[in-house]
Amino acid sequence: MKAASLSYAAAASATDAVRMLSSPEAKVIAGGQSLGPILNLRLARPSGLVDVSRAADLRAVTETPDAVHYGAAVTHAEMEDGVVPDATPGWMQTVARRIAYRAVRNRGTIGGSLAHADPAADWVNALTALDASVVLTRSDAERTVKLEQFFTGPFATVLAADEIIARVIVPRRTLQARWAYWKFCRKTGEFAKASAAVLLDPARNQTRILLGAIERPPVLLPDAEAIMTGSITPARAVACAAPELDAASAAMHAAALTRALAMVAA
Ligand SMILES: Cc1cc2nc3c(=O)[nH]c(=O)nc-3n(C[C@H](O)[C@H](O)[C@H](O)COP(=O)(O)OP(=O)(O)OC[C@H]3O[C@@H](n4cnc5c(N)ncnc54)[C@H](O)[C@@H]3O)c2cc1C
Repeated sequence: MKAASLSYAAAASATDAVRMLSSPEAKVIAGGQSLGPILNLRLARPSGLVDVSRAADLRAVTETPDAVHYGAAVTHAEMEDGVVPDATPGWMQTVARRIAYRAVRNRGTIGGSLAHADPAADWVNALTALDASVVLTRSDAERTVKLEQFFTGPFATVLAADEIIARVIVPRRTLQARWAYWKFCRKTGEFAKASAAVLLDPARNQTRILLGAIERPPVLLPDAEAIMTGSITPARAVACAAPELDAASAAMHAAALTRALAMVAA
């Protein structure tokens, strides 16, 4: 099956993209890695596509002393290859390298992955654990939303129909911080069946522990300190935070969390 007939226009900038989106039922396309199959299966039938993959400001990266601001159309491969700076000591590069396989990473974008909001997606979980935010822009306003408030459900976000992700802001981390991101996939290149991330950053007074690949937005565990000290076991933490998981899935998430905690402690 192929996509139904639609119009196509390439945006030169975020402003251009937002203007084009004002036509009803137009949809943004970035790398097309998720939207392409959806269009081909006719699960979505937008009247037109607004391609943001070459918009100069959405491809730009800017640095401040405290954070790196990634244009939404930066690709996974650019992060993997070190073409763009890593706000962390190489952690984002490692996450990027393990997304799908190279052909997907060449086209897929950070902003597209976050907007698509697949609960199993690597940026969705890793960047939420890293306390990242997105800058959303529309014709008359811009707002910054922390990722932990951005996702509202599986494949659902706070993005309005006439709004795009312009940038992703990732706080800088130093070598004093510790990090682990563990995912279980049935085979290389597949989406995770279970994932866990642990961030320990004494300089920013942050301990964040996250469970991913659950059929809802990333789950930040409330008792991170107690989990770090071992007074709450990974199995108990998973049971409390995600009681809906069946036994096999709960065991896989507990194992992912156990391994992430061991990596941070090593
Ligand atoms: C075979 C295969 C395996 C994969 N495996 C993994 C994996 O292991 N881990 C993983 O994390 N991902 C995986 N992916 C997904 C991949 O990372 C995609 O890149 C990502 O989901 C979507 O990014 P995209 O740029 O292609 O977005 P598109 O497909 O172009 O768009 C996806 C959605 O986001 C919207 N959108 C895109 N950009 C913006 C923007 N700037 N503002 C607002 N809305 C926007 C679109 O309208 C659409 O709704 C896989 C994909 C494939 C095809």
